Parts: sequence; structure tokens; C-alpha cells
Amino acid sequence: MPKVVLSAAAAVAALVVVFVGVPLFVLVALLGSASGAGACGQQFGGGSGPLVHAADLSPVQTAHASAIVAAGATQQIPTQGVVVALAAASQESGFLNYANDGLGGDLAASQAGVSRSLQLPHDAVGTDHGSVGIFQQQYPWWGTLEELMDPATSARKFYAALVKVPGWETMPVTVAAQAVQHSAFPDAYADDEPLARELVASLSGGSGTGATDTGVSALCGTGLAMECPPTGLAAENGLTPDALRVLRCVQQQFGDHTYLGVGTRSDNPSSDHPGGRAVDVMIASWETPSGNAEGWQIARWTVANAAGLGVKYVIFDAQIYTVSDAAAGWVPYSHPSGATDPTSLHRNHVHVSVYGNAAGGSAAVSAAGWTLPIAPGGYILTSGYGPRPNPTGPGTTFHAGLDFAAPAGTPIRSAATGQVTFAGPSSGGYGNLVIIRTGDVEVYYGHQIDSGIRVVAGQQVVAGQQIGAVGSTGDSTGNHLHFEVRVNGASTDPVAFLRQYGVDPGNPPA
Ligand SMILES: [Zn+2]
Ligand SMILES: [Zn+2]
Repeated sequence: MPKVVLSAAAAVAALVVVFVGVPLFVLVALLGSASGAGACGQQFGGGSGPLVHAADLSPVQTAHASAIVAAGATQQIPTQGVVVALAAASQESGFLNYANDGLGGDLAASQAGVSRSLQLPHDAVGTDHGSVGIFQQQYPWWGTLEELMDPATSARKFYAALVKVPGWETMPVTVAAQAVQHSAFPDAYADDEPLARELVASLSGGSGTGATDTGVSALCGTGLAMECPPTGLAAENGLTPDALRVLRCVQQQFGDHTYLGVGTRSDNPSSDHPGGRAVDVMIASWETPSGNAEGWQIARWTVANAAGLGVKYVIFDAQIYTVSDAAAGWVPYSHPSGATDPTSLHRNHVHVSVYGNAAGGSAAVSAAGWTLPIAPGGYILTSGYGPRPNPTGPGTTFHAGLDFAAPAGTPIRSAATGQVTFAGPSSGGYGNLVIIRTGDVEVYYGHQIDSGIRVVAGQQVVAGQQIGAVGSTGDSTGNHLHFEVRVNGASTDPVAFLRQYGVDPGNPPA
């Protein structure tokens, strides 16, 4: 945890207050708790907290951040790991090398010699629990004072601990950092992530290869989330998994363009770019009809694949499409500043904003060949099979299915291999409906979002294949998948049915 500063050079002290002053820290903890801290496939909060930019760091702080990036390169740590380390150091020390005067009254017997850290090079002095260095690692359990007070060595120790955390590659940054640091405030690192991504982009050079190349392992999930090969472009540096998908898949689909990722946006700190949650696809010949058409092709393609890419909104040609408001479609866009130049109105580039890590997650297919229609962790069961009060009218109705509540646009996947027997708007209350037949079983996937259905009648699908997206069409009071199983034409309890085939969706409310 950040230290109370007892002494430091005056110029440095001002920065320390900005970074680790108690009121800001409390604010950070509160903001952080609003962010999604769940497993892969959940959405980040997306809010912009108290951002600090790479350009704000002093030369000393920048040197320590560079040591963290360089140690990551030496150890061939993927970009995601370097982001975790930078976020941890940002939160713990504000990239200042702390000595510890041992006067906190909180030392274990074996930590008695910690004040000797004052004789080693340092930028600031703290007093907390024998913690020293840029990661506030506790002496002597993390290492010797010489090791912990050397930024490069302490970074190597951080990475060595990080790679032992199972699944760290696909955890939200704040969760992975917490797993290494054992902080009492697990969300505290969330607001350090945008700065960490900016630093990765600015400090790791333009090669886009080697250790700073984000490995596919940093992408969550398979099947449901789109996977496209690395581009080798420097613009990949610092991107969140969703943004990386957008860059890679747009390039695979539409070929070479100039792509902009994190970049430096000191003029627009509220942009999604510093947090690694946006990609710009520059359209070279935007002023010609064919250039404009190409831009629209890319913009519409990212919207059509929003679920698999984790897209939040897309802007092109002075129009914006917000995925959570799909019903509105493309609507006129004006820049917040009122500027009308081609860049501000996005006439010369397609801007794609993403959630960060929303496209990941995939369920296993059971030995019997069945799987969950929505990725585990991505839904809440809101209504089970049986009689219930009529949600859209008076009286009691018999609910013939199982309701998976999930955000609009969440991918729906076929629960089994089979043939599509219906796909489109239904005449009943199902709204946009897909029916898939597997032997004598038919599964109904109801209430899908407009334009969300991805299959046509007659098509063969495999278990786990995306067939549509969650919506609230038909007789529905909110975004959810109505999942209905009929065996030889008669409905049956989907929970019992799925369990019989080795898949457990959990329990709906009683
Ligand atoms: Zn942009
Ligand atoms: Zn239902």
C-alpha cells in the first residue's frame, strides 16, 4: 500500500502527494470498486478515473517505469503482464523508489534491519510494514534490501510472482496485480491501468515484435471471441484484448491501413485511447466516393461483429453507432468541442471503442455434446421453467423455458450440433427467434436483438457456434435469452435437461 511520505526532495514530494496522497487513494479505491473485477469475458467499468499521463512523469519516474518495461522484455513477458506490473508500481509507489525508515512500529522481528535501506539510493522514504522499492515489496520475504531497492531486480521478482498466478493472462489487470501484491484493496489498481497502457505504448519502442508483442494468450476465450493473427504493428502496444481483436481482425478483413491505438492524446484525456480501449482505422482516400464506401464497409463490419469483438461504439462520417442502443442505429455525431474538421467529425477515420475484455469466454462442450448458450459468468438466470405471474399481463402463465439475462448484444451460441429449422421474426411472443433441431430435440432461442441473428433456416451448426445475440424483442421486459427445450414437441425443464447432458447452467430463482 502507498506510504505516508516522511521526507523527500521538495520537487518530488509534490508528485508523491498527487500519486499516493490519502484522499486520492480513498477516491481511487471507491472508483475501483465500481469496475468489473470478474473473470475473463466480463466488462470493465470503462469509467475514466483520475488519469495521470505518461507525459506527467518526472525523468526519475519515467526511468523506473522503463526499467519495468525492460525487465519484462528480458523475461519475455507478454504486454498484458507488463501492464499489470506498471499498474502495480503506479499504485504502490507512483514509480518512486522508497526506502523505509523502520519507524512505523509495525515491523516483524526479522524486518529489524530495514532502515539500512536509507543508505541505498532512493527517491522517497516510507514507513509501512517494512515495504521498500517501487513495488513496495516487504523485506526480507521478497528479497534482500539490495535486490528490492534496485528497480530492475524488484521488477524481475514481480514478474516471477506474476507468472505463477494461474490464469493471470486473462484476468483483469487489477485482479492480477492484487494476486501478486496481496493488497487489502483489490480494486485499487484499476485506475492505474490507463496510465500503464500508455506507458507500455510509449516506452516499449515501435518494433511491435519481441517481448512487447502481445501474445494471443492475452486474448480471452475461444470460439465466441474472434481471434485473428498478430499484425506486428506498433499500434498493438498497450491495447486491451478487445481492442487488439478489433485491430487484428479489421486488418485481416480489410488489409493494410494506418492504425492508431493508445497514442498520445494529451488534448483529450477522456478519450478511450489512453486506456487501450479504442482503435482508429485511417481511411487514406476518404474524400473520394470509394474511400467513403470503404470506411462504411469497415464501420458496418465492426458493428456486425460487435459481440465477437467486444465493441462498445463506432464512429464514422459524422455518425455514431452505440451497440447498447442498437435500436437507434446510426445517428448523427458531433464532436464534443463543436469542431467540424474531418478528424473531429471522423470523416477520415473509423473510430472503434471497446469495453476492454467483453468478447471473451467460452463454455466447454460436454461429452454428450451440449454446452451453455451463453458463456459462464456472462448471464444471470432470472426465471425458471414452470408457472409464474405473467410478466407482461395479468394472471399466471406457464413459463416454458429458462431465462438467461445478459447485456444486449451478448453472443448466443447453439447448445448442441444440429440444423436450424427457423431463423427470423416469430409471430408469437418470442420476438426474433432461432430454432435448432438435434435429433428429436428442438431448442428455441428467443427475444434476440434486431439484426442479431447469424444463421438461416436449413443451416447446419455445431455446438458452441454463435447463432445470434441477446435482445428484448417480442414479449419481453428486458434483455435476456429465452431458452426453451422441446422433446418430441413437448417442452421440458431446461435445467434438468442440460444437467442430463452434462451441462449445469446453475439454479434459477425459486
Ligand atoms: Zn479514435
Ligand atoms: Zn423466457
